[in-house]
Amino acid sequence: MSLKNISWVYSLRKIVLFALIFLIYDTSFLFSKEKLISLTFHDGPNPNSTPQLLKILDDANIKATFFVVGKMVKKYPELLKEIHARGHEIANHTYNHRNLTMLSTSDIMSELLRTKILIKEIVGLNTHLFTPPGGRFDSRVIETARICGFRMALWSVFPEDHRNPSPVIYEKVITNARDGSVVLLHNGPQDTLIALPKILEKLKARAYKFDTLSSLLSKGKGKHIVYPRN
Ligand SMILES: [Zn+2]
Repeated sequence: MSLKNISWVYSLRKIVLFALIFLIYDTSFLFSKEKLISLTFHDGPNPNSTPQLLKILDDANIKATFFVVGKMVKKYPELLKEIHARGHEIANHTYNHRNLTMLSTSDIMSELLRTKILIKEIVGLNTHLFTPPGGRFDSRVIETARICGFRMALWSVFPEDHRNPSPVIYEKVITNARDGSVVLLHNGPQDTLIALPKILEKLKARAYKFDTLSSLLSKGKGKHIVYPRN
């Protein structure tokens, strides 16, 4: 092969290489996934905050996941219906909000199943996710929940909104939120209600979209916070 031909082949290889790089680079946006976050609200329903919370979520056109406590559901069934009617996901946060690691296996079952049955009676839903009160769990809790038909879900962002003022709640969520984050907030504190609209506005400005926890998991995100892992 002459020198001229060799340089032509090299030039062609360069062109093909650049074309490939350009193609990969230029089309990558087609495969980029949307940035998703799931907001979870623990401990409701609560007449002092659920109506305001639902309005904030409605105004922002966002669906969230409510981990409800059975004894609160028993007291405020209408609020549970309202949460359901607005299209939010309902999940199980036990009946009495006790530390499950301190209970017998049959008492853990009772905590989960009483709430499950109550939710089913009131809104006709089967729940499949639960979160342990105080984040306290061990392998027995996970296994007992599994036998009862539940997967245990934790969270990846927790601004400790049960004890922090609204500016701190805002800062902690905004700083730590990533694609696939599961944010733990409470359906109760007034500071959460104050911080929430600003949190939603900021995250929307950063092109985040919001989804229920089940939907987020079904899209392959946030899986590291669910047990047992499979
Ligand atoms: Zn709780």
